[in-house]
Amino acid sequence: MPPLIAPLKGMHAGRAFGLLAFVFLLAFGVAVVQLALDQQRVIDVTSRLQEQTVPEIIRYQRLARNLEQIRQEGERIFAVSTQAARQQSLFVVTLIASHPSVLEHPESSRLAREAERFLGEVVRQAAGGEARLDAYHAEWQRLAARLDNQIDDVSIQGTNLASTDLKVATSAMNLARYKLMLVLVLVGLFLLAFIILVRRHLIYPLQRIDQALSTLSTEQPAPQFGSSRMLEIQAVEQSIREHHALLIQNDETRQELEQLANKDGLTGLMNRRHFMQVAELELQRAQRYRRPVTVAMADLDAFKKLNDTYGHAAGDLVLRIFADLVHAAMRQSDLVCRYGGEEFAFLFPEVTPEEASRLAERLRASLAGWDIALPDGRAVRVTVSMGLADASECPIEIALKRADDALYEAKRLGRNRVELAPGGRPA
Ligand code: GH3
Ligand code: MG
Ligand code: MG
Repeated sequence: MPPLIAPLKGMHAGRAFGLLAFVFLLAFGVAVVQLALDQQRVIDVTSRLQEQTVPEIIRYQRLARNLEQIRQEGERIFAVSTQAARQQSLFVVTLIASHPSVLEHPESSRLAREAERFLGEVVRQAAGGEARLDAYHAEWQRLAARLDNQIDDVSIQGTNLASTDLKVATSAMNLARYKLMLVLVLVGLFLLAFIILVRRHLIYPLQRIDQALSTLSTEQPAPQFGSSRMLEIQAVEQSIREHHALLIQNDETRQELEQLANKDGLTGLMNRRHFMQVAELELQRAQRYRRPVTVAMADLDAFKKLNDTYGHAAGDLVLRIFADLVHAAMRQSDLVCRYGGEEFAFLFPEVTPEEASRLAERLRASLAGWDIALPDGRAVRVTVSMGLADASECPIEIALKRADDALYEAKRLGRNRVELAPGGRPA
């Protein structure tokens, strides 16, 4: 078996996915911090809007209302006919001009003071007679127009304040929205990459392993796997390959042992035990289909004498030569075994006793005419006696017993001959 323990090159799955998770968390964390910062900007702008801008706008509105009232009171001074009413309006103008909301806005304050002074002058002049008011009215118109302009400016300033803050808040929210979309896309891409990696490096290899395990057998070639980068997967794949190689090795050993257990060591023919198993099945098959089948027993003649004369090694050689001769003379479907010592048993499927007798006769004759050359240069001739019996209607043991009886008869009649057991069913 070739060495299978090759060093594994790759990465531990835990480390690989840990690294991936770390990169993901890092990117996700940075994105979340960015989003939080944007959110904070929106919150800052909103709270500034609430705490500073809105009161500021209210102040501007109040200032605009005050200026508007100065203008209205000025108009009233020119419109009313009594001095008391004019005094009252002037009093209101004086009050408003010293109102903190006006004072804290220098431009408006200057204009309010100017209007107060002018209207004070007007009221004083009016005390001298109505006619004088007309002379001031044109100038008041100009002052009133300036007040109108100032009211507009103040209103616009208030509105600008709000819109600046709102712009900042809107742009921060827009930025946050784009970033959020980017984060979602990033998360999606990471998940996609994660799924692809998990499928490629874990799920597919595991499926291949599962398939390899379910089909692992000595009849299949060694399982082939893709090139996984995960060390754990590689280790499992390697042990499956080792396991497969071991299975094949065990199977070969089993076959060798089976052969050894079934064969006769000297002649290479089947041994008696194996012959009985196979012959039994063969006989059952023949009997089931009512096909002819014949058994035979063979025994080398005067073998003891041969051993005594030429030695035990010569006896062994003769046994091997007889086995080769038998092997060459027989068809593939015929069975033969070394039954024990210098005895052999045969089973001829699809062969009638008469046909088998002819075959046995040929075998006997060819052995009898064979000059067996011994290693020491001498030549020896050996004969065989054979007994045959019809096995188509009885169990194997009985058929062999009848063949043995016929063999005994062949010995009795002088050896080197073939005898067929008398037909008919055994008793
Ligand atoms: P018969 O013609 O009546 O068969 O006479 P035989 O001498 O062949 O018969 P017997 O049963 O008296 O002797 C058989 C001999 O076969 C005895 C034994 O030494 C020999 N024998 C048995 N097995 C082996 C073997 O494996 N090798 C060798 N060389 N001789 C064996
Ligand atoms: Mg014998
Ligand atoms: Mg013998």
